[in-house]
Amino acid sequence: MTDVVVLGGGIIGLTAAMRLRRRGAGVTLWSPAGPLDTVSAVAAAVWYPTRTDFDPRVLRWAGATYEHFRREARDGVPGVLMRQTRNLERDDSTGEPWWAAAAGKVAYRAATAPWTREVRFEAPLVEMDVYLPWLRDRFERTGGRVVERGAQRLEEALAEAPVVVNATGLAAGALCGDPAVHPVRGQIVLVANPGITVSVRDQGEPGTYVHPRTRDVVLGGTYDADEWSTTPDPATREAIIARCVALVPELAGAPVLGEKAGLRPARHGGPRVEAERRPEGTVVHAYGHGGAGMTLSWGCADEVAGLAGA
Ligand SMILES: Cc1cc2nc3c(=O)[nH]c(=O)nc-3n(C[C@H](O)[C@H](O)[C@H](O)COP(=O)(O)OP(=O)(O)OC[C@H]3O[C@@H](n4cnc5c(N)ncnc54)[C@H](O)[C@@H]3O)c2cc1C
Repeated sequence: MTDVVVLGGGIIGLTAAMRLRRRGAGVTLWSPAGPLDTVSAVAAAVWYPTRTDFDPRVLRWAGATYEHFRREARDGVPGVLMRQTRNLERDDSTGEPWWAAAAGKVAYRAATAPWTREVRFEAPLVEMDVYLPWLRDRFERTGGRVVERGAQRLEEALAEAPVVVNATGLAAGALCGDPAVHPVRGQIVLVANPGITVSVRDQGEPGTYVHPRTRDVVLGGTYDADEWSTTPDPATREAIIARCVALVPELAGAPVLGEKAGLRPARHGGPRVEAERRPEGTVVHAYGHGGAGMTLSWGCADEVAGLAGA
């Protein structure tokens, strides 16, 4: 029996589906694309609330997600790692960043120009090409059903179950007529790992980041609002490599293994996570996570399961 239809098989839909199953709901997940054909599979995907404004809910989701991934890394869940991280700031901030309360132990030290301060902490990093298929498989093993289809209208899914979770990412803009939803294009380059293990993030404009995984290193980034192209741009690739080599010189000459561009599902006003009562049933919206979908995923999923009444 299907109690809840979850629309979307990215990180937000899959984590919500898992939480709903854990509460005993009968869950069917609809997705027109496999886990590796989602924006979630393009993500770096490092715990950090990139360009996300403070909001008590966001802080709660970020903290719960941090703890969830920390436990999964400890338990050896495929694709989940913990990485020492160096955030290099360029502004004159002196206090704790708002997200620090969610990030375990955070240390501060002075930095040399052009940086003003270095913030060090340990962060979860998820190899999405491994983790998303693992999560989907686990969902199915717990009795969840996956159907390869999209919904043209929310009513289609409401005809199948009294509760629908709308975790369709960027597609939510058209699906529920939300003009605040917009794409923020990001491009990354994957290079062979020369043996580095520490993540480095330079908070200049545009931000530059180096995230070592087990087999490769993710280099970024770009942040282009309202750009719809998902074709990687060669000049941007070269600029990303140059910025990352300047930041971490050990990367010089590392063979390029691949590149990707994806559209972050951003939303003016922040993520929409709320229940909407309709005559046909309840829609729990869970979209608009921008550049922080992995960072907020498990915490947000708890809230979605609560709103679904499961
Ligand atoms: C270059 C880049 C780097 C990033 N790095 C990070 C990072 O380091 N950390 C971080 O936290 N975040 C990062 N992000 C952001 C992160 O990728 C997103 O926030 C996250 O993937 C959003 O997840 P989602 O499940 O909402 O969307 P998606 O992954 O886009 O999933 C949406 C799902 O909905 C399905 N769907 C679409 N339309 C329909 C429909 N009509 N009916 C049913 N299903 C539908 C799709 O097929 C898909 O399965 C990055 C993004 C990019 C592009």
